[in-house]
Amino acid sequence: MNELLKQLIQAAPTVDNGERRAAEVLVQYFRTHGIQADADIWNENRANVIARLPSSRQKPGLLLAAHLDVVPADRSQWHFEPFTGIEQNGHILGRGAVDMLGGLAAAAAALVEIASTGLPLQGDVVLAATAGEETDSCGANRLVQSAAQTISPLAGIILPEPTNLKILTAHRGLLWLQITTYGRSAHGSMPKQGINAIEKMLPLLNRLFGWSIPQPPHPRLGPCTMSINQLHAGTAPNIVPDTCRLHLDIRTLPGQPQPSVIEQIQTFLEEQKARDPNFRAEISILRQCEALETPPNSPFVQTVCRAVQTNQTDVAVFTTDGPHFLPLCPDIIILGPGNPTACHKPDEAVKIDDLAAARQMYVQIIRALAQ
Ligand SMILES: [Zn+2]
Repeated sequence: MNELLKQLIQAAPTVDNGERRAAEVLVQYFRTHGIQADADIWNENRANVIARLPSSRQKPGLLLAAHLDVVPADRSQWHFEPFTGIEQNGHILGRGAVDMLGGLAAAAAALVEIASTGLPLQGDVVLAATAGEETDSCGANRLVQSAAQTISPLAGIILPEPTNLKILTAHRGLLWLQITTYGRSAHGSMPKQGINAIEKMLPLLNRLFGWSIPQPPHPRLGPCTMSINQLHAGTAPNIVPDTCRLHLDIRTLPGQPQPSVIEQIQTFLEEQKARDPNFRAEISILRQCEALETPPNSPFVQTVCRAVQTNQTDVAVFTTDGPHFLPLCPDIIILGPGNPTACHKPDEAVKIDDLAAARQMYVQIIRALAQ
């Protein structure tokens, strides 16, 4: 498991490199241990992997759904090489050690351990490692479209994302919007000849900063939030800008329809247009992901809790690929090694003891489902 994690880190599956090398490392690991595994490769360097422990198929199966990709690493901010996979003081260090090559390696090792015991399974145990979670979830969508029939029916899905080994059953949704205002460029010495797109953005900015999305808070996930995080305009100090772009990060709650949030912002644009005939603006979606909420008392969550001997579940502050897998099965939990606050930061590292504990938990859950 530790060697697998180091090799996955060394494969550096960033958005620039693609996931193909990491997929080949993973397929090789499974095949070496006699487990059926295949890579699905597209666009030269993008890849998903599916590995499977077959069963008598008397019961629904289990899907462990990890992502293969990692975010890039700015070497100047790190105290060690991000992609060499070093072992130090009981930790494995490197980009992806926490998010989430560590969880992937622990889940893969759990399949190997179950296979080595020859435990008879009543439902297939499938491990999927998918591409592009950090960008557009292309791998998860591709998997759901291409492999749904071969994976379903499922008793539940586990995402081995870092949770400090806690069972998380819900997270908020994500909606990234871009609002663009349009003007007309002119020489900066004659501003009256143009229409300044920054000036057109101003009333919207004021409106949005004074607004909170009308949505009652969720008992476990808290409020729906909106943060105004980027503003781009202009090409030179002496040109009146003809476009201005604003980026919003909105976190929605389970049951809250994301289109209604967009409609509310659209009414702000229309009201401004009624006040100012020169006002032109549009909204586009940069990224969206639904919220996730699995009832903590669902049979799957209860089985998992019993298997790992806890009655505690919690919620995640981050979002996952989980909602993309909802067409396969509604019962999705997040459980994995590593501290989620270390994600996407320099000097990422995971405790080797936590990797082993996660592997043990996945083994216990597979055993519990086999009974
Ligand atoms: Zn992740």
